Amino acid sequence: MAAFGTISVSSCSKDNESQPAQREQAQAQDAKAEEAYPGQSGQTTVGSWGGEAITYQEINGDKVYEGDILLTPGQAATAAGQGQQRPSSAGRTSGRWPSAIVYYTIDSNLPSQNRVTDAIAHWQANSPVRFVQRTTQSNYVTFRVGSGCSSNIGMVGGRQYINLASGCSTGNTIHEIGHALGLFHEQTRNDRDTYVNILTQNIQSGYEHNFTKYGAQGISGTDYGALDFGSIMMYGSFSFSSNGQPTITKKDGSTFNIQRTGLSAGDKSGIDAMY
Ligand SMILES: [Zn+2]
Repeated sequence: MAAFGTISVSSCSKDNESQPAQREQAQAQDAKAEEAYPGQSGQTTVGSWGGEAITYQEINGDKVYEGDILLTPGQAATAAGQGQQRPSSAGRTSGRWPSAIVYYTIDSNLPSQNRVTDAIAHWQANSPVRFVQRTTQSNYVTFRVGSGCSSNIGMVGGRQYINLASGCSTGNTIHEIGHALGLFHEQTRNDRDTYVNILTQNIQSGYEHNFTKYGAQGISGTDYGALDFGSIMMYGSFSFSSNGQPTITKKDGSTFNIQRTGLSAGDKSGIDAMY
C-alpha cells in the first residue's frame, strides 16, 4: 500500500488538480463506486444498531447504508436497544463466517457469471477464506441480478444476497464479497481524518452518509493497519461528486484513483487478522 501511495502522489500532482481537462480524464478512468440503487435516493432514516443511532436510506424497501450495504431489519431496528450486537472491526460485523467458509449459490439467470467465479477465485488466491457451493447449509450467499451492486455486511444468518447489475464488474464483485465478509468502506474508518480530507460541499446531496465514520454512526470497531488508499474497499477522490470536484483528497490536497482490480496488501492483512 505504501507503493500505491507513492505512485498516486507523483501522478496526481498539483498540475492535475489545477487543470480541469486532466482531472476529467482521471475521473473518466476511475471505476465507479458501488451503489445499490444508482441514481435513486430514498428517505433518510435514523435507526439503531446495538442501541446507537445510525443513518441509512430507505430505498425500495431496502435499508441502504453507505451506498451499497444492505442492513438487515435487526441491524436497523428503529427502537433503541433492539439492534443486533454491534460490529467489532473496521470492517466486520459480529457475523464472521465460521471456519472462514462462505457457502454460496449463483442464480441461474445472472448474466456473466464469470464475474462471480473470477471474484471468488481471487479471494481464494489471496485470503484464507474458502467458498463452497451450498448444498443444505442454512447460512449462505446467493449472487443474483440487482439494480446496482450491493451486499449485506458480514454473515447475517439465513440466505443473504449479493446483488449485481450488468454494470458491476469482477472488481465490484470482489468489493461486494468484502462487505459480505464484514468489511466496511475504508474511508469510514475512525482514524481516517489523519489521512484524508472529506470535502462535504462537493458530495451529491443525499450521499453524505457514505462518508460518515462508522464510529460517528455509533458502530465500534478496529482499524487494521494504516488507511489504505489502494484498498478495494476505498472510494476514489471523485466518488459521488456533485460538481466534478473531489469529495476526498489526501491530507496534502492531492487526489487519488479508485482501485477495483483486486485486493491490496492492506486488504489482505486486514482479512488475515479477521479470519
Ligand atoms: Zn461498498
